[in-house]
Amino acid sequence: MKKTLWLLPVLIGSVLLFSFTGSHSKPVPGRRPIQTLIIDPGHGGQYPGARGTFSRECDVTLSVALKLGAAIQKEFPNIKVVFTRTTDANAGFRSNLNDDLHYRANIANESGGDLFISIHCNSAGRAPGGWYGKKVVGYTTATKKVKVKKKWVTRTVRVPRYENYWIENVARGTETYVWAVGKNESKTSAINDNADYGEVDSLSTVSLPDPNDPAEKARMLIYTQNYFRKSLTLADFIEKEFISTGRVSRGVKQRNDKGIWVLQATGMPSVLVEIGFISNKSEEQYINSDEGQEQIVDDILSGFRNYKQKFEAKAASQLDQ
Ligand SMILES: [Zn+2]
Repeated sequence: MKKTLWLLPVLIGSVLLFSFTGSHSKPVPGRRPIQTLIIDPGHGGQYPGARGTFSRECDVTLSVALKLGAAIQKEFPNIKVVFTRTTDANAGFRSNLNDDLHYRANIANESGGDLFISIHCNSAGRAPGGWYGKKVVGYTTATKKVKVKKKWVTRTVRVPRYENYWIENVARGTETYVWAVGKNESKTSAINDNADYGEVDSLSTVSLPDPNDPAEKARMLIYTQNYFRKSLTLADFIEKEFISTGRVSRGVKQRNDKGIWVLQATGMPSVLVEIGFISNKSEEQYINSDEGQEQIVDDILSGFRNYKQKFEAKAASQLDQ
């Protein structure tokens, strides 16, 4: 185990083990005040993410992320905010999605981030807004010639009458994801079975971490021991804020599939916030509106404030001892 942990800074080039404290005291992971916050606007450039009826996920996430960064900067001027992208180019101008996601994780780790918040929009169903379905509304009869024993005879048959009807794309609400530590198959498959389950980088070519790789193993262990509980706490705070402002909260969820890779790859507590369904007509309006974006930013900011208070108070009381 010791050997594995020692390999970590070399293998993943992480500054993690050395960044917890500047003094000679024993590093206490995660107990220092939050100094650097990484904000990750999902998608961008040639990877626009999900599409709504009039907007694209990458534009909404960028706008909300920049507003969130500004709000945090205003309330906590001592916190350094680092964005994984600030323009409509994919992160780091990388030419493929794999490099793009790696770049996001690297910039977070190299900046010595204490917390990572990724902003995404959800999508579900066959088309944004809705689609036409067909239903049987009754039957008529018709005559049909059929061949019986080499002779043509006329038969009366029942013919269904169809009507087209509009199916509204109703999936809506917020979700906050944390990396599912280990192979929590029952939980992840339950989520994947959900018909509303939509996006999160389904085109990602990033491979899942190999549990036999010592570096990955060490990273998972560190995440489990130090970051999982904190990530869960922040996710919970954020969803509670969404509820308090009247949003539909689909809750805190765990996944360990490809799209969430960026959470696990960052050596810090990390959450991925799905701020609403871009595929739902009214929610698309909301997440694109100034009012809606302000509300979302306010909710995430409040969740962050609660998180900061909780863990920094803890850190201070421990220093007193
Ligand atoms: Zn996304």
